[in-house]
Amino acid sequence: MKRLSSICILGGGTAGWMTAAALSSKFKAIGLEIVLIESEQIGTVGVGEATLPHIRFFNQALGLDEKYVVKATKATFKLGIEFCDWGRIGDRYIHPFGDYGAPLPDMDFHQVWLREKLTNGAERLDEYSYPILAAENAKFHLPGPDTTKIGSNFGYAYQFDSSLYAKLLRTYSEANGVRRVEGKVVQTIQNPESGHVTGLTLESGETVEADFFVDCSGFRGVLIEQALAAGYEDWSHWLPCNRAFAIQCESNSDPLLPFTRATARSSGWQWRIPLQHRTGNGHVYCSDFISDDDALQQLLSTLEGPAITSPNKLFFLTGHRKAFWKKNVVAIGLSAGFLEPLESTSIHLIQEGITNLVELFPTGEIEADDIREYNDRMSLNFNRVRDFLVLHYVATEREDSEMWRYFRNLKQPDSLVEKIEAWRSRGYVIPYQHGVFLPPSWIAVMLGQNLQPKAYDPRIDRMTDKDVTQLLDTVKRQTVQKIAEAPMHEAFLQDFMQGAMSPSQSISMAH
Ligand code: FAD
Repeated sequence: MKRLSSICILGGGTAGWMTAAALSSKFKAIGLEIVLIESEQIGTVGVGEATLPHIRFFNQALGLDEKYVVKATKATFKLGIEFCDWGRIGDRYIHPFGDYGAPLPDMDFHQVWLREKLTNGAERLDEYSYPILAAENAKFHLPGPDTTKIGSNFGYAYQFDSSLYAKLLRTYSEANGVRRVEGKVVQTIQNPESGHVTGLTLESGETVEADFFVDCSGFRGVLIEQALAAGYEDWSHWLPCNRAFAIQCESNSDPLLPFTRATARSSGWQWRIPLQHRTGNGHVYCSDFISDDDALQQLLSTLEGPAITSPNKLFFLTGHRKAFWKKNVVAIGLSAGFLEPLESTSIHLIQEGITNLVELFPTGEIEADDIREYNDRMSLNFNRVRDFLVLHYVATEREDSEMWRYFRNLKQPDSLVEKIEAWRSRGYVIPYQHGVFLPPSWIAVMLGQNLQPKAYDPRIDRMTDKDVTQLLDTVKRQTVQKIAEAPMHEAFLQDFMQGAMSPSQSISMAH
C-alpha cells in the first residue's frame, strides 16, 4: 500500500503552525513532506490569548522548554476565569483550574461542603479551593509533584501573545523541515472523479501538490467549505453572539492577576486578559441586541489604560462544519467551527483536532471508518463545549435586557438539561468520558451562578457532624497557610523566566 508522503497545511495562524509543529514532530522520522502556505496579505484573525491547561502538554510533547515558551510569548500564568455579573449584577466567582478541597476516599469534597451548607449554612465553597484563593490574592507558583496535596491540587494555563506563539512554532516547524510558502491561494485543484484535493494554485502561478490537506485557513474555510462544501451546523439559536471588537491597552494591573476576566454585559460580555506587556480586551456581542457603535463604546469606556491598537472588528457564526474531515481534507481551527471564547476553548479544540488527526493519520488509503471516527470525536468535543457555554447564559436571574430575556425562554440542549437537573437534585455532576470540562468546572459555574442543589449525596451521612466540621476546618486552615507561603504571581513570573533558554537552544533541545 502506498503511504501518504506529502501533506499541505493551508494557513499560518495559531491552528496552522500548531498543526505543522505537531505533524513535523510526529512524522519527521518517516519522511513525511510538510508544506505550509500562508498569506501575509490576508493575515491572521489576530486574537486568541487565553488558553486551557492542556496546552502545556502540547508544548511538552514538542519538547519545548516551558520557561522559553513563557518568555517568548510574553505570557502570564492563568489559574482560571473570573466571571462578573453573570448570575446577578454584582455577583462574581472564579472558575478555577483544579479541584475543590482535598481528595477523599469514595466521596466528593463538595458533597461534604454541601451537607454543611444545607444544614448549617457553610461559607462559600471557594474558601476551600487553593487555585481560587491564590488567584484572588494574585499569587502563583507551579504545582508540586503530588497533585493530591493542598497547594499542588491545581492546573494552570497561560495568557499569551498568540502571534508570538505562532512565530515560535514556525521557528520550531521550519527547523523540523517544514517548508513555508508565502502567497495567496486562488484555486483549489480537485480530482474530477474522487473530488479529492490534489493541489493549490497561488496568485504567483505556483501550484503546491500534496496527498493530504489540512485546512487552517480560518473562518473562510477555503478547502473544507469553498471547495468541498462540507456544510455548517449553525448553533446561533443557542449562542447568538456573532460579533466582537478586540483591542489592546496598556497594562494597569497592579498586582498582575493570574486569571482572565469575563464580565457579562447587556448584549454579550467583555474579556480582560493580562499579559506581561499589555492587556487584551474584547467585547463579544449579539448584533440583534446592540449596535456596533454602542458595543464599541461600551468596550472603550471600560479600558483600564490607554489603547495601543485600533479596534479589530470580527464577525462569526457559532457552530461547526458538518464534516470536519471530508475526502482528503481535515479542517482544524476556525475553519472547523467556532464557539465564543468565554471559556478559552478554541486553541484547545485545535489541539483536540491535531491529537485526533495524529491518532487516525492515514497509513495509505483514506479509510471511511477513520473519517467517521474523527468526525464523531470532534462533534462530541464541540457539543461538550457548547453545553458548558450555554450554561453561563441560562443559569442566571438576569432579565434586564433583551438578550437576557431571550435566554430566559431558550429551549436548552437536552444534554444540558439532564446535567442541570442532576445537579439540582443532589449536587451530582454527570461525568464525561470524553470532552473537556471536568466536574469541578461545572460545580464552579453552577454554584457561581446560584444553581443550588436541593440535597446532598446521602453517603455523606456516614460522617458525624464533628467529622464534617473537622474536615472543613483542616482543609481551610491548610489552604490559607499555603496561600500565605505562596509568592506573588509577578515575582514568580520574573524569577521563572530567569532560567529560560535562548530560542536556538530551546529549539535544538526540542529536536
Ligand atoms: P486565522 O488566524 O484566521 O489564520 C488563517 C490563516 O489562513 C492565515 O495565515 C491566513 O493568511 C491563511 N489564509 C486564509 N486564506 C488563505 C488563502 N486563500 N491563501 C493563503 N493563505 C490563506 N481562542 C482561544 O483559545 N482563546 C481565546 O481567548 C480566544 N479569543 C478569541 C476571541 C475572538 C473574538 C475570536 C473571533 C476568536 C478567539 N479565539 C480564542 C479563537 C482563536 O483566535 C483561533 O482559534 C486561533 O487564532 C486560530 O485561528 P486560525 O489559525 O484557525 O485562523
